[in-house]
Amino acid sequence: MVEITGTPVYSCRKCMNPIALRVDLISKNYLAKSGQVYMFAHAMNIEIGPKVDKQLMTSYFSIAEIFCGKCGEEMGWTYVRAYDAKKYKERNYILEKAKFLKEY
Ligand SMILES: [Zn+2]
Repeated sequence: MVEITGTPVYSCRKCMNPIALRVDLISKNYLAKSGQVYMFAHAMNIEIGPKVDKQLMTSYFSIAEIFCGKCGEEMGWTYVRAYDAKKYKERNYILEKAKFLKEY
């Protein structure tokens, strides 16, 4: 377990499992079908589901769903592979705002 100091942490709303650090937040300006989502460069204490190919908006991606490593709640998804110009999204983590809380 990594000790976290000096940066706000985003935790699972259900079980308070720390999922991502504020310093790893890339953008808050994304909207998914489920509502607002945040993009992170890194996430922790998570389980990653099987890879699926999916058309998102205008692009084709290989993504995998992310689940809380403690309570199993679905948190969002990660881009495993981008098939077009959106390469910058690869290996980033998308977390649904409704699923986490910000802690200090
Ligand atoms: Zn949880």
